[in-house]
Amino acid sequence: MPKYIFVCGGVMSGVGKGIATASIAKILSWHGYKVTCLKIDPYVNVDAGTMNPLEHGEVFVLKDGTECDQDMGHYERFLNQELTKVNYMTTGSIYLSLIQKERSLFFDGKCVEVVPHVPLEVIGKINQAQKLTQAEIVITEIGGTVGEYQNLLFLEAVRILKLKNPKDVLLVLVSYLPYQGEGMELKTKPTQYSIRTLNSAGLQPDFVLARAQFPLDEKRKEKISFNCGVLKENIISAPDEHVVYKIPLNFEKEKLGIKILNNFGLKPKKAPPDSDYKKWKNQIENINQLKKQVNIGIVGKYFKTGDFVLADAYISVIEAIKHASWFLGYRPKIVWLNSEEYEKDKIKLEELKNYDGIIIPGGFGSRGIEGKILAIKYCRENKIPLFGLCYGLQLMIVEFARNVCGLKNAQTTEVNPRTKYPVIDILKEQKKLLEEKLYGGTMRLGDWECEIKRGTIAWRAYVELRRTDTELSRTDTELGRRYQKNISVSSALSQFVPRVLKVVERHRHRYEVNPKYHKILQKKGFVFSGTSQKDLLVEIGELPQNIHPFFLGTQFHPELKSRFLHPHPLFVEFIKQSIISKNEYL
Ligand code: GLN
Repeated sequence: MPKYIFVCGGVMSGVGKGIATASIAKILSWHGYKVTCLKIDPYVNVDAGTMNPLEHGEVFVLKDGTECDQDMGHYERFLNQELTKVNYMTTGSIYLSLIQKERSLFFDGKCVEVVPHVPLEVIGKINQAQKLTQAEIVITEIGGTVGEYQNLLFLEAVRILKLKNPKDVLLVLVSYLPYQGEGMELKTKPTQYSIRTLNSAGLQPDFVLARAQFPLDEKRKEKISFNCGVLKENIISAPDEHVVYKIPLNFEKEKLGIKILNNFGLKPKKAPPDSDYKKWKNQIENINQLKKQVNIGIVGKYFKTGDFVLADAYISVIEAIKHASWFLGYRPKIVWLNSEEYEKDKIKLEELKNYDGIIIPGGFGSRGIEGKILAIKYCRENKIPLFGLCYGLQLMIVEFARNVCGLKNAQTTEVNPRTKYPVIDILKEQKKLLEEKLYGGTMRLGDWECEIKRGTIAWRAYVELRRTDTELSRTDTELGRRYQKNISVSSALSQFVPRVLKVVERHRHRYEVNPKYHKILQKKGFVFSGTSQKDLLVEIGELPQNIHPFFLGTQFHPELKSRFLHPHPLFVEFIKQSIISKNEYL
């Protein structure tokens, strides 16, 4: 009988349920169990594809093209697992499938009601995910905060499942304890109210993860335990951590894994000798000791809502920078640079010199575009390592077309549909869907294969880190050190020099480098180092290293496949070149 853990949040949103869910899954996998993570989002949107990342945070894309919540990225990064659409649902998707069933007479004339049919549909989807993944323990995160109207039906699903299988279902509340400042204590009352609210939904949490600025002391654990009837040993301290990958280790210190298994009547299985746990712990210890810093600027268009929202909108890029920098023994410092400032005042571009490397992330629309193009030109001319992601690559092509190929005012048709030189244009099939205003799912989404050209930066990066479609790169400190010192790592690994190198990467875009302009761009020196569909589509474009240390862009999103212990090869190469050029500047 599979086991089910549900994770819900108390007191406030953004309390860290996603990381907590991923961490619980991680420690249970360290104890030898096959786990999977699910997220239920309370939105009516059927998926996250139509949501604005500056409001909702990054739209993460799974291998099968599912556009979903950023928490799915945390699960993949922690578990080093590829998830699919069965791992994600929203209020919208649940209602949609329920209504489709009703329309096809699935209910045989019965009255279909919000309760119990919606919660039963949720349970059905969770079981479906369990069957498909063969997970022994399924960990489901319930979006939103306890007390909100919109996630009540999900809590009802937990109640029903628990009623039927009391020994196989656990509820974890991730709750926040505010701190008022010096001399004050961590306050437990809001958490107590959250638990009472859960009680009124017919639920009692089995575990409470106490999120706070500081570790939770025994006194307050007693207080929550006494007032809310949760076992004291099941109240787990969960203080803020700068490096989120430390959190599973913190939970393990509180023996959360064993406690959960005990509750299910399970015993830890033997962990393999070269366990992931050891590597994880080692890497955390290495990170603690890092002194050298690499400075990375991200040039984007930003809202005045502040850094917090930004970090959420680019979370996978930030994590990918961290993974690669840590791998190379550096502490990354990431700074946000507003491209609109460059449009107002070109002198501001000079600030780009203060960074070891610049990233132009993905995006949509025309705001801030000219500023990004100016930044690209500046980095190209001043040989500052530049990494373009999706829209970033497209704008590198626009800049190169304008300033090197002499195609004046070249543009992407996303910004100017009537441009004389549409160097970035939409695919024919997509055009039709857009004309019919069918925006949901009109993009090239998810995994697509790409062939890498020999002798390019991309080839070297992928081969040296040995990442292919079937095998993720191996990471350990020794390998990182060798890589950093420029010693070929291929000798440290089994011989791996393929004749043809194909990689699979994740996509989310409508526009492509226009095949009509391939020749002129190539003639002027742009190298298409990764292509698909027999060279029709450009997946990676770069300038040769004798011209520029790193001027490379990808049509896909490499950041979506970077993991804590498996940095993405292109990010590693970018950070490596940033470090090298930094030393030259010194
Ligand atoms: N707006 C561009 C496109 O649709 C790039 C998308 C992105 O950066 N994810 O092709």
